[in-house]
Amino acid sequence: MTKISPRSAAQIAATVPTVDCETVQRGNYRNKALLAAVRLLPCVKCGMIGVHAAHSNRLIHGKGRGIKASDAAIMALCPADHYEIDNGKNYTKRDLETYQDAYIVKTYAALERDGKINIPAHVWKLHGNAEIALELIRMQEDGALWVHF
Ligand SMILES: [Zn+2]
Repeated sequence: MTKISPRSAAQIAATVPTVDCETVQRGNYRNKALLAAVRLLPCVKCGMIGVHAAHSNRLIHGKGRGIKASDAAIMALCPADHYEIDNGKNYTKRDLETYQDAYIVKTYAALERDGKINIPAHVWKLHGNAEIALELIRMQEDGALWVHF
């Protein structure tokens, strides 16, 4: 796999909308310490304590046949809300994508609040949760966010 080096904000803005093979292959990224930190957070949907480190089901986040999404594409969700995302029949596919992007962003914001990661200001200037979530995932995989084990 190609190792991605940190890029400038301008380069990132130019590349974020593109869904390429590199993005899809990112399901290989694993980080047990990150998952452990996420499990200490309250549910990003309802606030309940006692959550799963729930992986995104989005292809763009590395989910594929027989492979979990990237550990960086992670959401702090209580069991009920995790089930809703994985099996929710009440939502459209687009809704589920929108919720997952929002939950990933909220999870990273909570990790930052707890002093586990440091999110550069440029990330928040991207356009919407889909782009912000993708950039957070990429930066986490590149080792650019994690500041405390
Ligand atoms: Zn919940």
